[in-house]
Amino acid sequence: MANLRPSENNKYRALWEFAHRRAAVDSIPSMLNIARSNTCNFKCVYCPDHRVGNNIARHELRGTTWDNLLALVPRIEWLAFHGISEFMIDRNFFDIVRRCGEAGSTLAINTNGSVCTPKHLEALTAYPGRLSMIFSLDAAGPEFFLRIRGWDFWRVIRNIRTYVESFENRRDRTWLGLSFVIMKSNVKEMLPFVFLAKALKVDGVKYYRLCDGNDWRISTEIGDTFDYRGESTDAFVDEYNQELERTRRAAEILGLSYLELPAPVLEKAKEQLQETAEPSCQEVSPDHHAGSMPG
Ligand code: SF4
Repeated sequence: MANLRPSENNKYRALWEFAHRRAAVDSIPSMLNIARSNTCNFKCVYCPDHRVGNNIARHELRGTTWDNLLALVPRIEWLAFHGISEFMIDRNFFDIVRRCGEAGSTLAINTNGSVCTPKHLEALTAYPGRLSMIFSLDAAGPEFFLRIRGWDFWRVIRNIRTYVESFENRRDRTWLGLSFVIMKSNVKEMLPFVFLAKALKVDGVKYYRLCDGNDWRISTEIGDTFDYRGESTDAFVDEYNQELERTRRAAEILGLSYLELPAPVLEKAKEQLQETAEPSCQEVSPDHHAGSMPG
């Protein structure tokens, strides 16, 4: 097909193969999520990688595996860099962004918002394709942020504001959002979080439930103990349902362009939750890398 980029060629080939029910295909997926490493500069208390007793070694994709993935980049239309890691500190960040840009791909990044150097700003502001950035906060103020994410809330807020301002001339090709993992101790911050999103002028907010199946206790940066099971939705079902509705109404009234909320817990499921203590982890991963670009 003439005048098409390799990624467009691949996508149309995939559609053609699907329409013709081909069992063996030449196309590759036009959307790819890559978790390049398991390295992060945060130690969020609910992050599975930082649970007590975890001793999985640090590693990253490299060698032939990484070279093979890089070779796919020109054929991919939508590339996301998620995982239990922080992509913005990846030592190959700028090279990867450049390759994605040359391919004309949409680049999706989920980040903890801690990195905002002039070099990062320049690379992302000049990114030639569509860009999606989701900042994981889980809090509308500094206290809970420090408790859960162990970092300086105001510094992250300043970084987000800097990104938003820098992207002013490319907002038609940029989607910016915040994400929030709902826990017992931050459920009352769900509604103020909508106001924060409006103040920061991002496009939307995504809320996720904490995964119900995990169970560990870990000390927090403010000196208390984070109890995973006690923070899970089944420990505060009524309040959870109530705050979902209040948040939905606030987002509607304030005119937030995009809102993603998990489902309420229905009465029947509530009874089941109370009857069983067995893990029932059906929810989205609790970490900030679970989101993606809507639309
Ligand atoms: S939840 Fe995300 S930011 Fe927090 S430690 Fe895990 S990977 Fe890092």
